[in-house]
Amino acid sequence: MKHDVLVLGAGMVGTCTALHLQQRGHAVTLVERRTPGRETSYGNAGIIQREAVEPYPFPQDWPHLWSAALKQSADVNYHWGALPGLLRPLSAYWAHSRPRRHALISRAYARLIAHSTSGHQPFIEAAGAQALVQRQGYLQVFRQTSTWRQAAERAQRLAQVEGLNHQVWDGEALATAEPALRRRLAGAVHWQDPWSVSNPGALVALYATLFQQRGGRVVQGDAQTLGATSAGWRVQTADGPVEAGQAVVALGPWSDGLIRTLGYRYPLFVKRGYHQHYVGGPVPSMPVLDADVGYVLAPMQRGVRLTTGAEFATLEAPPTPVQVAKAHARASELLDLSTPVEPQPWMGARPCTADMLPVIGPAPRHRGLWFNFGHAHQGFTLGPISGHVLADLIDGVAPVVDPAPYAPARFA
Ligand SMILES: Cc1cc2nc3c(=O)[nH]c(=O)nc-3n(C[C@H](O)[C@H](O)[C@H](O)COP(=O)(O)OP(=O)(O)OC[C@H]3O[C@@H](n4cnc5c(N)ncnc54)[C@H](O)[C@@H]3O)c2cc1C
Repeated sequence: MKHDVLVLGAGMVGTCTALHLQQRGHAVTLVERRTPGRETSYGNAGIIQREAVEPYPFPQDWPHLWSAALKQSADVNYHWGALPGLLRPLSAYWAHSRPRRHALISRAYARLIAHSTSGHQPFIEAAGAQALVQRQGYLQVFRQTSTWRQAAERAQRLAQVEGLNHQVWDGEALATAEPALRRRLAGAVHWQDPWSVSNPGALVALYATLFQQRGGRVVQGDAQTLGATSAGWRVQTADGPVEAGQAVVALGPWSDGLIRTLGYRYPLFVKRGYHQHYVGGPVPSMPVLDADVGYVLAPMQRGVRLTTGAEFATLEAPPTPVQVAKAHARASELLDLSTPVEPQPWMGARPCTADMLPVIGPAPRHRGLWFNFGHAHQGFTLGPISGHVLADLIDGVAPVVDPAPYAPARFA
């Protein structure tokens, strides 16, 4: 029997979940408090990261930890006031990042990432979004020869195990391939499989339009009003209360706030991130991760988008874009970034779990309630495959990927 489903949250994850459920014949209502694709899925670096087969671990080496603790680097910032609340999830994150455990987690992560570009492809085509998508990969560039060599070895290992395509470039090859970079660097790894999107929010908006064209409903409403009924779930919307037999929580970083009201205390936290666009200077041909410093420069419709690393803070705390200033100073060594587009940087929050794996599956203690959140650094990449897995689970068919590692019950 086909159920009606409420999907709460129209970021990349919720919108793709709605599309997958709809494809199987469900009547789906997508509930969003703003418009689709205006939050985290709007402001990211836009890379569909087919190469990201290992999730970001918590650093295990002392030099890294010290530099983060002393706020010396551009890639990490934190708010002192947030630390007590972060103690539990971050210590679990640290434990899960130990090499053996991280290797096991990466095996589960890689199984999802394997479906990243192939998962997006049919939606890109059906939504007419081809013009937003570039397929020439992305570059990790290195300032130091030692880190470049290490990265080249790691790339070689991952390429062999996971069947990824890459090239290793020395400084000269990089300068030839990317003349926009005005400083000579040690070298680069060119990952050839990833795709990049020149307006990530617009891609989500096009997916949401496709969902509507196929008969789906997008309504404005507040997911925090979710309540159980005798037959399922109800949420208040601008069109009045909407009820369905099943509900999916796909609220990205806001998921924790809702599931706490239902009694779930999961080790979730956010890594906030910022972006700012710049115009006027030469533009690289593909996104560039300045790996030794820790920021990305991505060519976008609005200009070159500089995105920052992780800020450990509460979701609600006011913005503190110190990392934009630090990254901008170092990025200006590579590109002319003298003309910012916005007066203030954009801020968003990566929805993270302590074990670096997303939460996809049935809510352990509530019938007809499903979770799909916690995609951290790669939710833009993983939206379609996560939606696919969840739709398989709701339909009770064998999931395209073994869902056990992502089961919400692991935290219950
Ligand atoms: C700086 C930065 C760079 C990144 N770069 C990349 C990258 O290159 N590639 C990649 O794959 N990932 C990247 N990410 C991560 C990625 O952006 C996220 O993992 C992803 O966007 C999460 O998608 P989501 O749908 O879960 O959440 P969101 O996109 O945040 O969607 C959640 C939705 O829920 C809605 N909502 C919230 N509360 C309510 C409510 N009460 N009622 C109704 N609706 C509500 C919000 O309005 C929002 O639309 C980056 C993140 C950042 C911050």
